[in-house]
Amino acid sequence: MPGFELFGAEERKEVNDVLETGILMRYGFDGPRKGIWKALELEKAITEVFGCEYAQLTSSGTAALTTALSALGVGYGDEVIMPSFTFVASFEAVLSVGAVPVLVDIDETLTLNPIAVEAAVNTKTKCVMPVHMCGSMADLDALKAICEKHGLILLEDACQSIGGTYKGKSLGTIGHAGTFSFDFVKTITCAEGGVVMTNQKDIFVKSDGYTDHGHDHLGVDRGADLHPFIGYNFRISELHAAVGLAQIRKLEGFLAIQRKNNKALRTYLEAIPEISFRKVPDEAGDSCSFLSWFLPSEAITKAVVAEFKEQGIMAGNFYWFVNNWHYISKWDHLKEATTLNGISAPQKQALLGLQQQQFPASDSVMSRCISTAISLVWTDEQIKEKGEKMAAAIRKVLAAN
Ligand SMILES: *Cc1c(COP(=O)(O)O)cnc(C)c1O
Repeated sequence: MPGFELFGAEERKEVNDVLETGILMRYGFDGPRKGIWKALELEKAITEVFGCEYAQLTSSGTAALTTALSALGVGYGDEVIMPSFTFVASFEAVLSVGAVPVLVDIDETLTLNPIAVEAAVNTKTKCVMPVHMCGSMADLDALKAICEKHGLILLEDACQSIGGTYKGKSLGTIGHAGTFSFDFVKTITCAEGGVVMTNQKDIFVKSDGYTDHGHDHLGVDRGADLHPFIGYNFRISELHAAVGLAQIRKLEGFLAIQRKNNKALRTYLEAIPEISFRKVPDEAGDSCSFLSWFLPSEAITKAVVAEFKEQGIMAGNFYWFVNNWHYISKWDHLKEATTLNGISAPQKQALLGLQQQQFPASDSVMSRCISTAISLVWTDEQIKEKGEKMAAAIRKVLAAN
């Protein structure tokens, strides 16, 4: 999964280009920077590699979501439908623009169940935000149809699925806008960083200004820029962009290794008839950064997790159902609306309402799901050892239950 595993001379070279000039900022200083524009270069590479018209880098994936929501006009009074299984950044971004996150059930795709989305649509709904979790995708045709029917915005949180595709198009480029994260554990990393991708010029122009205090970036003198609207500072630095530039050139290689290692590990689990796998709407588009699999019941899954821990083989396996970062069951700070400052009445009401809301359909999926992160540096022998140990532990638990 993570590009940091293969950090090397290429990344150092790009960073050194920036250190040579000392111009660490992505804007201005045209003379002293001697033609070095790493952020601009990375944005161009992103449009080419992923096939979108426009790309705006940001300081993080969370900032990319916040920027995209703002550029799409999502704010106070609006509801955003999102899944119960995601990373906390998804609802943080929604709250930060003043909108209300509406959490709905997922299905065996591990992201939005289109039927649950349709049921949650009301007059306040403005946006549907699928989160392409763990390297693979939501049922985008179904979600797109719902958005078209109700006149809603489709914003893809593709932060975890860099390099995944759906029917030949890159995840993150299919909705009105989409985002990647380049934080340290993502498929390609900048250390910290993110991007908003879109095919609509107006959304790009707004994202560009929003990430830099509302600057219009029209003149050559930064100090003379006008501010058509209020923005923030979500800029990426040249040092971060330089790392990303080296990483994006390695992406094809990363993906090839992920696919190979994922497939190799999968054969050991496929040999166990009680195991089933995540539903992938377009199998060919799985980025393969994780292998997500299901056991027959919550009790058996918990017993397998306990056995993995006992045998010291849990590292790299994720039981999200009890994970503080990724599943509604553990988000007490969200359900109690624990913020440092005041939030709007509709937001507060919606968050406290989550205490009463049950997610039985999501629970029945997540309580049986384990995701195995796929490493780029496994050897064939290590995969064999890992696969055999995992399969033996699972068989032991199944035999006892
Ligand atoms: C990593 C991640 C983000 C946020 O990215 P940061 O760069 O860490 O802010 C958002 N959504 C999902 C699903 C993620 O996995």
